[in-house]
Amino acid sequence: MISYAASVELMQTVSRQFNTSLDLDEVMGEVLRLTVEATGATRGSLFLLDEKGEVTRYVLARPNQPPEVSRHNVEKAMTRGLAGWVYRQQLGVLVADIITDARWVRLHNDTETRSALGVPLLHQDRVNGVLILHHNQVGFFDESHLSLVIGIAGQAAIAVENARLFTRVKNERETLYALITGMPIPVLVIDAAEQIVFANQAARQLFLLEQVEERLTTIESGHRLKEAIENLRQNPARQTVEVHWADERVFNVSINQVPQLGTVITLNDITHLKELDEMKSSFVETVSHDIRNPLTAIHGFASLLEMENLSSRGRANLAGLLHGVEQIQSLIQNLLDLARIEAGTDEQVEPCDLAEIAAETVADFEIQLAQKEINLTTDLPSGLAEVAANPFRLSQVVANLVSNAIKYTPKAGQVFVSVSQEGAEIRLRVSDNGPGIAPEEQLQIFEKFYRVPTMEDAEWIEGTGLGLSIVKAIVEGYGGWVWVESEVGVGSTFGCVFPALTTEFEVPESGG
Ligand code: ADP
Repeated sequence: MISYAASVELMQTVSRQFNTSLDLDEVMGEVLRLTVEATGATRGSLFLLDEKGEVTRYVLARPNQPPEVSRHNVEKAMTRGLAGWVYRQQLGVLVADIITDARWVRLHNDTETRSALGVPLLHQDRVNGVLILHHNQVGFFDESHLSLVIGIAGQAAIAVENARLFTRVKNERETLYALITGMPIPVLVIDAAEQIVFANQAARQLFLLEQVEERLTTIESGHRLKEAIENLRQNPARQTVEVHWADERVFNVSINQVPQLGTVITLNDITHLKELDEMKSSFVETVSHDIRNPLTAIHGFASLLEMENLSSRGRANLAGLLHGVEQIQSLIQNLLDLARIEAGTDEQVEPCDLAEIAAETVADFEIQLAQKEINLTTDLPSGLAEVAANPFRLSQVVANLVSNAIKYTPKAGQVFVSVSQEGAEIRLRVSDNGPGIAPEEQLQIFEKFYRVPTMEDAEWIEGTGLGLSIVKAIVEGYGGWVWVESEVGVGSTFGCVFPALTTEFEVPESGG
């Protein structure tokens, strides 16, 4: 019989043990030792089990003797012995005399045990361990021992479950950490004060980082990154910004705000893609030049034929021929334009009044507007800040967007062109109430040669799929960006943002 006071004291000590350490082996060993001591048992064993009932840990406590652990004995106890019975029945048990009790298997190294006590470590109807106490007197343990050990086992079961959850979370965390740390794409996390709080392996190599507490501004090429982040923060519609590194590498930077963590910055190395793009552009430029001359000759000779006395059938064929040649000429002109814009070898850059240029450009569409009975309205105020650009290129941006709006909007539609100043930005918007563009197409229409498939079938709309790529290349060449908002069946708004010229005009690096 164990006294009430001794029971309470043991429960308190055990509870303290569970709260002081997360090391399961250490805690279990100590709890078993205390229990053996307080109950007066000659020895005790603790089996910890996994979900399948397999023993994952085994602790043995014998006062003043070293623990001996034999895998064979553990298995024997769990399959045929008392520990196995307790596990399967999920019950606590007193064995008054082990010789007359079939649930006990005598192990060859245990010659002294005569009575025993066994309890399960029960957590939410699952046994995650078994505790067995031994004594060398028959009938040593009574109900008071059993209820005390059941109480201890209850606490132990919770501790085992907590340790298991902790290990699982820790493993998952380590896996994630290894994944992010080892991935080849540089990832940085900065806090509100721009202090770097995390940098994976690739980011450390890229920024030559020794430790993470450095500030964005102090790291190699950090100022370029800072500008890119600022740009993305100010323009939430932008998904990425290209950053040119001092060593000629080019990165696509994207940011993501994660609450309680900070700003997650990812840098995708697109140098190789850029090089391929440049090779392709120079190839296209060479080929286009070579085709342009013979094409001009064909057009010239075909035009001469117009003066001949042709039959009406001959005239119709000639008109078809000239139309086809003009189509190819316009495609080649577009390709050459694009190559020049992308190469940055474009014409002189000067301060431009975008609203004024838009007004002049829109006026050139009078005939097309009349033909399709389209109502074009504008909001082009004077006195806005200027934009550093080439006026011809700006006019090309407006013309491409307006001609698309007219082209794709059905007869008697509405087109609206506006230029406005929003802080340090000048925004051009061209809206229509045409067919609209599905969300999945919106990202692609700015790619070269991309045309929305359903429109390709519509014979009445001609195009090369280069107009919007030219718009994007021009706008980005001047440090701006483009976007589209569109709803199928409602209409589209194409927008371009240019940095406003607020300070004294300087020719940007990309200018010719
Ligand atoms: P193109 O007009 O020569 O086909 P663009 O690059 O100018 O090439 O446009 C790409 C595609 O975007 C077009 O083929 C069309 O499907 C779609 N698109 C452009 N502007 C509009 C618009 N205002 N309304 C609906 N679709 C448009």
